[in-house]
Amino acid sequence: MRLDKFLAETGVGSRKEAKQLLKKGLVTVNGQVIKEAKTQVDEVQDIIEFAGEELTYQQYYYYMLHKPQGVISATEDKWDQTVVDLLKDEDYREDLFPVGRLDKDTEGLLLLTNDGQLAHQLLSPKKHVDKEYFAIVQGLVTNDDILQFADGFALTNKELVKPSELMIDAINEEEERSEIRLIIQEGKFHQVKRMFEAIDKKVVYLKRLRMGNLWLDEELELGEYRALTESELEGLK
Ligand code: URA
Repeated sequence: MRLDKFLAETGVGSRKEAKQLLKKGLVTVNGQVIKEAKTQVDEVQDIIEFAGEELTYQQYYYYMLHKPQGVISATEDKWDQTVVDLLKDEDYREDLFPVGRLDKDTEGLLLLTNDGQLAHQLLSPKKHVDKEYFAIVQGLVTNDDILQFADGFALTNKELVKPSELMIDAINEEEERSEIRLIIQEGKFHQVKRMFEAIDKKVVYLKRLRMGNLWLDEELELGEYRALTESELEGLK
């Protein structure tokens, strides 16, 4: 890649700033001062230093975000704050995007990355990656509901959903509320909400806990994020 691109991608500054720093003779490639922005470098093999510090190139970035309500799972939105707006300036990159969508009022685990291949692997229906949710549902969830979810069934618009695992965590008969966990492998639009709507119940709170082997780190406050650990990343691949 071009040297100015390399400098921008390793966080030295914008492409424009990188060009100015190059002109000042602050960058060496394999020990030689290079001033030409268009010089091609090998980001793995070449030793590139800025002001005497070696720069290491990272191609892919992976962040686990505890998405709060009120934030849109997109990279841009006219009206609302997006999940990438939650990134600090030093972590923001134009190519980061959320892996899949959580509704504006859904909380929980959202992966942000620039690795399109991993995103595809996690989202492709063919890969059957589990997505586990916790929900508070208005209505009393029954064992029959568990069996219906286990078989797969039709939503109110006749769209079929595949078998899923529904577990009851708690039932409050007085308030007619249920706390459940649900593991699905698909990612249809508003899927969890529509599954409960099909059995005449309403999801009033929804949080994603897990995607594949990746669990939401409960230490993260709403709106906080952190880089995945190496073992978390390995577990996803
Ligand atoms: N299902 C939903 O209904 N909403 C979400 O945000 C995620 C899954």
